[in-house]
Amino acid sequence: MSDTAQAIEVKDLHKRFGPLEVLKGVSLTANQGDVIAIIGGSGSGKSTLLRCINMLELPSAGSVTVHGEEIQMKPDGDGGLMPANRRQVQRIRSQLGMVFQSFNLWQHMTVLQNVIEVPVHVLKQPRDEAIAVAETLLKRVGLYEKRNAYPAFMSGGQQQRAAIARALAIQPLVMLFDEPTSALDPELVGEVLTVIGDLAREKRTMILVTHEMKFARQVASHVVFLHGGIIEEQGSPQAIFEDPKSERLKKFISSIH
Ligand code: ADP
Ligand code: MG
Repeated sequence: MSDTAQAIEVKDLHKRFGPLEVLKGVSLTANQGDVIAIIGGSGSGKSTLLRCINMLELPSAGSVTVHGEEIQMKPDGDGGLMPANRRQVQRIRSQLGMVFQSFNLWQHMTVLQNVIEVPVHVLKQPRDEAIAVAETLLKRVGLYEKRNAYPAFMSGGQQQRAAIARALAIQPLVMLFDEPTSALDPELVGEVLTVIGDLAREKRTMILVTHEMKFARQVASHVVFLHGGIIEEQGSPQAIFEDPKSERLKKFISSIH
């Protein structure tokens, strides 16, 4: 059943919000070690696609397979789908590390508490072990000194690096990033991209929604251009950025530079 090289497979994914069809049949495969950059204009469905992959949104049709295991869904009686097995969704979600545009750290917890929360309370790891892993991760993202600080007392760049450490702490199979630098002041973007770039160099599997075209070009193994809820064009970074075929992609790229 499981093809271990395949980390994520999305097949013919559709998502409707009432009358609005936001995803109109998206298919995508991320093999282990792939860094897939998703680009596209505002409202093209990028966040919805990521949120369907980790079941923060329920697809209306289509399938999502994580590490060879298809997420089981059943009709919700309202023309959409719902998880057939909530435990399976929880288990699969625990293999996906998600980093949001707005950090989403728990404000009433220190950085260290944020990082160990899910490992200790959801994954039931021994607290000592979780702390040891968290400290190692916080060193990696340059925040060990800040481990006892509360998010409100940290810069946006520090908060986002803490959010990345938190996502890594569950030892995910795949990291999902939704515009991780869009909410940052320009001078703080670099420190976050450095951390994500290091993960890419380690061959960590990632799906990254980003507006940072230069960065996407450097780290992505594959680039997907979404427009109006469908994949308008996809290919190597070189093909997408140097030899775009569709008029929409050409227009999009020139609008960003
Ligand atoms: P992107 O991330 O590419 O900017 P989104 O996936 O956030 O795009 O949104 C795509 C479209 O879906 C937009 O028109 C947005 O308004 C709509 N949308 C997103 N989430 C919801 C929701 N929960 N309810 C209704 N419409 C939504
Ligand atoms: Mg978005």
